[in-house]
This record gives sequence, structure tokens and C-alpha cells, in this order.
Amino acid sequence: MERVLIKNLEENELSKISGMIKTIRNTKYMIFIKLKDRTGYIQVSVDKIKEELAEKCAALTTGSFVSFTGKMVMSEYVKDGGKEFLPDDVEVLSLAEAYPIEENALPDKKLDYRWIDLRCDAKEYIIPIQSAFVKYLRDYLYNQDFTEIHTPKIIGTASESGSSVFEVKYFNDKAYLAQSPQFYKQMAIASGLERVFEVAPAFRAENSNTNRHCTEFTSFDLEFAYINSYEDVMHLEEEMLTYALGKLKENFGDIIKERFGQEVIVPNKAFPRIKLFDLYKELEKRYGYKIPEHDIGDLNAETEKLACKFAMEEYGSEFLFITDYSKAKRPFYHMRDENDVPQGYDLLWRGMEITSGSQREHRYDHLKHNADEKGLTKDVEFYMQFFKYGMPPHGGFAIGVDRLTLLLLGLDHIRDAQFIFRGPNRLYP
Ligand code: ATP
Repeated sequence: MERVLIKNLEENELSKISGMIKTIRNTKYMIFIKLKDRTGYIQVSVDKIKEELAEKCAALTTGSFVSFTGKMVMSEYVKDGGKEFLPDDVEVLSLAEAYPIEENALPDKKLDYRWIDLRCDAKEYIIPIQSAFVKYLRDYLYNQDFTEIHTPKIIGTASESGSSVFEVKYFNDKAYLAQSPQFYKQMAIASGLERVFEVAPAFRAENSNTNRHCTEFTSFDLEFAYINSYEDVMHLEEEMLTYALGKLKENFGDIIKERFGQEVIVPNKAFPRIKLFDLYKELEKRYGYKIPEHDIGDLNAETEKLACKFAMEEYGSEFLFITDYSKAKRPFYHMRDENDVPQGYDLLWRGMEITSGSQREHRYDHLKHNADEKGLTKDVEFYMQFFKYGMPPHGGFAIGVDRLTLLLLGLDHIRDAQFIFRGPNRLYP
């Protein structure tokens, strides 16, 4: 018999359902099993009058995978929709041992058994919602004529922005794990692709144990040509996020509220923007906060939090664009204006940076000047080649998928926003 998904069960039709046992309750006359498949739950009620079946079901355990054959009926005694499955037969696909972790286990222990941890009510939706979020972002870009690309993650030179890279042995040579697809995205623009994006792992050898950093994360990266300024980049990001949040609210708004206590707020106006040094002034005036000397020209975690508080109070916005960073704190490939101000931005959401973006410098001479100034001439020789044979004006940004998930669902730590977490002390499972 073909399997029927729980969502598609028809009343009184003989059907076979398959899934995982979420809970099992053995009472005097009945056994109640909460069965889950990818479309939802159903209560399977076994009457002990059916002795042979009841005996088999009594031996089942939480986490076991089973198939039941029987009929779905409507019952006024069953909560959440009143559907109940009355089985005639059970097939045990895999019998689970007792779980090695409880819901209140320590975070590290839970990571050891991540696949079991993901079965619990509070977490079972994290990955499906993340998947939907990325799908909506992707959909938006496909509708805007973007091409999805796949760039190498094993690279020959330690590139770019100074973030630490992981070194790996590559036969008799040395290679590195890509910390971002930045150079290859731009190479794609040079190859004539015009609008590209990639959703892929990025690696950072940063020994930072914060709630928002991982050593491997999923970067949602894009780049597009024929822009007039970085305003075009910000505008595209604003539209893309607004579209995706709208879809999330439509399809997952209720479940996000119920399971995570978070409201999905779809922006209804342009995201506010502020220059970095004006932000410093606002934060000092409003909250008496003065940025530490060593962070001047950039943001730190505290500034990001307060900046979002300010955006909410002043503009009623969860998002805030910050522009006009110091060139010393921005990568050499950001275009600069006549006053040497980088033409880029960071985007903050719910107290955290989620994106860096900019118009890129596409003019060879200017780019070389910027690279020389930062002492990178040798390191970026191969990248500079892309600009010698024609390159249109372009810009782009990168969003961290894990951070988006963390903030969307109001999770405490990024380890829960990743299917499998990678941090300085975490290489398993
Ligand atoms: P941060 O200052 O927060 O460390 P960054 O300035 O190094 O971030 P970028 O290199 O600009 O970040 O990367 C773009 C985006 O990628 C960030 O806004 C963030 O969403 C995500 N990201 C960067 N580093 C990490 C990381 N270690 N773990 C998770 N996400 C990250």
C-alpha cells in the first residue's frame, strides 16, 4: 500500500501512514501515540481489545519510526483538529533506544546529539523555516533575473579582508578555505553574467566564542552590475528582505509566534539610514554611550544593540542602514567617493549586523591604489587581473543565513540556528 501523508488523510479511507513516534501513552484500555511526519501530527489510538496489535504497540518507544495501516476518523475527544487514526496493523521500521539527552540537557550535550535535539517541539521548525527563508530570498533574485553560481571553497591564496583563514594541506601544497566568495562573485561579473548570487559555506578561523559567530556559516552573497551607486545595492537588499519576510509571515507567521514567541514584522517603508559618525552622536546624546577609542570608525556589539534601539524609537524600524565608515575599517575593494569615504554600508536588524555591502571599485587604477595603500598588492595580484580586461560598475552584499535565522526566531545562540554548529571548540558531529 502507498504511504499517505498525514495532511492528506481522507476520513474513513483505508490508508497507510509512516512517521516518527513523538510521544506514547499507555493507559488501561487504550494506547495513544502521537505520530509525526513532515506534514504534521496525528493521534494514533490503539484499542486494547485488538490484543495482538496492542501488544506490538506497547513495545514501541519514543523516536521509533513506524508505519500504521488503518483509517482516519473525526473525533470530538481529540484536540487540534479532531483527527484520529485507528490502526489495524503496525510495522516497525526502526525501534529507538531510550534518548541519551533530556530537554534540559546542557547545550554542549545537546550538540553531541543534535539530530535528537532537533526533534523537540521548540526546535523542530528551525531548519524548515530557515529553508523557507532562503527559498524566498532565492525566489526574489530569480525573479530579478539573477543567476546562481557555485564558486570554489578550496582556494590557492589567503584572500581579502584580513579575517583569519583556515589553512589546509593540498597534496604537496598549501591551500585555504574560502572566507567569502567575494573575488569570484566579481569575476563572474567580469565574465559578463551581470547579476549573480551564491548560497554557500564561508569559513572564518576566528577564535571568538560569541552567540553570533561560527567558524563555518552559510553566506548568502550577491553581486550585480550597472548600478549608479551603493544606494542601488541597499535598495535591492531592502526589497529582497521585505519580500522574504512577507512570505514568511504568510506561511510561517503563526508557527513562529506559537513556537518561538516572535512576531514576523514585514517592513512597510524604506529602511532608515544614518552615517556612522552621526550615529555615534545620537547614541551619546540619547543613551550616554561613547564608543571606545579602538572601535572608532566601526561598530561593536554594544553599538549595534543601541543603534537598533535608536532605529525603533526614532523611525519605528527594526532595520537600520549605517553608511560612511572609515576607509581604514573597510576592505580595499569598496569604492570611495572624492572625499575618500567608502561607498558601502552595514545593515542591522534586531540588534545585530546581518550584512555588509557596497559599490565595488571597478576601475583598475583606483583599485590598485586602494590595494597598495593597504599593503595588499602582492596578495591580490590574481584578483586585480579581473579588472584589466573590462569590468562594468557593480556592487553587492553578503548576508549570514545563520544570523538571519537566529534573529528571525529570537534564538539565544547561533549554534541553534545552524543544522550542525561549527565553532572553535566544535568539530563534531
Ligand atoms: P562581524 O563584524 O559580525 O564579525 P563581519 O564584518 O566579519 O561580521 P562580513 O565579513 O561583512 O562580516 O560578512 C557578512 C555577513 O556574514 C555578516 O553581516 C554576518 O551576517 C555574516 N557573518 C560574518 N562572519 C560570521 C561568522 N563568523 N559567523 C556567522 N555569520 C557571520
